Amino acid sequence: MTQASNEADKAAAWIRESIGRFVASDENRIEPGDADEPAWDEPLVGFSRGDDPLYQHFKDNIGPFFWTPAEIFGVTFPDVKVTPAELTVISWILPQTERTRNDNSREKTLPAERWARSRNFGENFNMRLRDHVAGVLREAGHEAVAPMRSPLWRRENSARYGFASSWSERHAAYAAGLGTFGLCDGLITPRGKAMRCGSIVARIALPATERPYDDHHAYCLFYYNGSCGKCIQRCPADAITREGGHDKEKCEHYVHGAASKSVQARFGFETDACGLCQTGVPCESRIPVPGRSG
Ligand code: SF4
Ligand code: SF4
Repeated sequence: MTQASNEADKAAAWIRESIGRFVASDENRIEPGDADEPAWDEPLVGFSRGDDPLYQHFKDNIGPFFWTPAEIFGVTFPDVKVTPAELTVISWILPQTERTRNDNSREKTLPAERWARSRNFGENFNMRLRDHVAGVLREAGHEAVAPMRSPLWRRENSARYGFASSWSERHAAYAAGLGTFGLCDGLITPRGKAMRCGSIVARIALPATERPYDDHHAYCLFYYNGSCGKCIQRCPADAITREGGHDKEKCEHYVHGAASKSVQARFGFETDACGLCQTGVPCESRIPVPGRSG
C-alpha cells in the first residue's frame, strides 16, 4: 500500500466516523426536544471522484444548469485552483427507522405522523449534518461545500425530465455506489428506498467506493424481470405507471397539495411528505430479491 492510499484510507475512516458520530448524537431526533426517538438509523457512507465521468453524463442528460462537482466547488471557492481529480463527493444515506417505515406502510392515502415528522425535523437534521460535515472538513483545511446548502442552488426545469435542480443527492449517492434507481425514481440502497440522502463536495483525496452495478436500474425488480410494480399500487396519486415510470408533476401536485394540507391539519406543522411508494414495497428496507416480491 502506498503512503498516499494509506492517507486516503485514514481520511475516509475519519469522515465516516464524523458522520456516524453526528447521526448517533442527540441532534438526530424525530422532533425537537424528543429525548428518545432518533429520526434516522445508522448511515451508509460512500465516495465518488470529482472527475468521475458520470457527473458530466448527468449534466448532459439533465441539463446545462446541473453542476459537476468542479462547477459547484469553483463558484464557491473562486480563488482556489483545483483540478476535478483533486475533489471527492462524499455521500450518505440516512435510513428511515423501522417504526417510521412500519407506520407509513400501514397508510393507504396519506403519510403517517412519524413519516411526516422525519420528513420535516429529520430533514432539518440532515441539513445540519451537511453543515457539520462541511465544517469538520474546513476546520481540517479542506475546502468543502454542501451543494444543497449553496445560495446558488435552485430548482430548474429539465427539457428531458421536467422538475430538476442544480444538484441531485440521489445521483451523487448512485455515483458513490450507494444504490440504483427504482420505477418510482427513488434510490434503492442496501438499506432500502425509505431514506433521505446528502452530500458534500470537498478538496480531499478519498478512495472512491466501488459501484457494484453497471445499470442505473439494477436493483429494481420491475427493470430486472418485469415483475413487482408494488409502488404503482401504493401511489395514491396514480403517479407511477409501468409505461411511464414516475410522473413528477402528478406526484408533486399530490405531495404539495392534498398530502401537505393533511399534515398541517392533522399534526400542526408544514411539510411536503408522502412516501407511500417507499414503504409497503419489497425495496422498502433492502435490495429486493427476485422471486420474492412481498
Ligand atoms: S416497488 Fe418494485 S417496481 Fe417499485 S421500485 Fe421497488 S422493486 Fe421496483
Ligand atoms: S411520493 Fe406519494 S404521490 Fe409521489 S410517487 Fe410516491 S406515492 Fe405517489
